Amino acid sequence: MVRDHDKPTILVVEDEPDLREVIRYNLEREGYRVLATEDGEEGLDLLREELPDLVLLDIMLPGLDGIEICRSIKYDPHTRAIPVIMVTARGDESDIVLGLGVGADDYITKPFRPRELMARVKAVLRRGKLRDEADASERIVRERLVIDRARHRVLVDGAEVNLTPTEFRLLEVLASRPGRVFTRDQLIHRAMGDDVIVTQRNVDVHIRSVRKKLEGARELIETIRGVGYRFLESEEDA
Ligand code: CA
Repeated sequence: MVRDHDKPTILVVEDEPDLREVIRYNLEREGYRVLATEDGEEGLDLLREELPDLVLLDIMLPGLDGIEICRSIKYDPHTRAIPVIMVTARGDESDIVLGLGVGADDYITKPFRPRELMARVKAVLRRGKLRDEADASERIVRERLVIDRARHRVLVDGAEVNLTPTEFRLLEVLASRPGRVFTRDQLIHRAMGDDVIVTQRNVDVHIRSVRKKLEGARELIETIRGVGYRFLESEEDA
């Protein structure tokens, strides 16, 4: 007998009934177990009871909105590791920045094709599995680039690249989560520390410098306009 719980469980919090059903239909067809609600409070209750493998979270919800829900998920040690994909209105970059700022793992903008949604879901679930390995690994190798964390060295085509400590940290943070978008504030927090005063513009300057030094591997760092930066996901991961 196949138990329903052997399938990855996805919680969908979306107040638009048609969209919610389309999402449910497509996820179930791909073999996921789906819990769905239109209500933010109920979504949080379901989340804590069921501990799903992933949450698809609409931002604009009556009552408790997606940003507040995501903040609650990421604040609670029991639910913090559950990946969250935010569903946002197209062009609403401020929502995307807010959502990533409270810990969302990815976002998708409406309207989207079911195929696009499935690709995001699979990528985020897979990234979660890879995350622990990446955290533990001493070397990050991608195409022509090698980041040797133990020795604080970066090589491109076998030649050492001289990065400043801040540049190294920025590259390391981005490369440890390929495909994940980091906001400038998150990069400041993770790569530079909170005790120094750094503006978002400083981040752009550092990134520009890293790219310049990486030369042939520079395209691995992608600018997400109005949001931040990400390290390209490899072909095998995508
Ligand atoms: Ca909505």
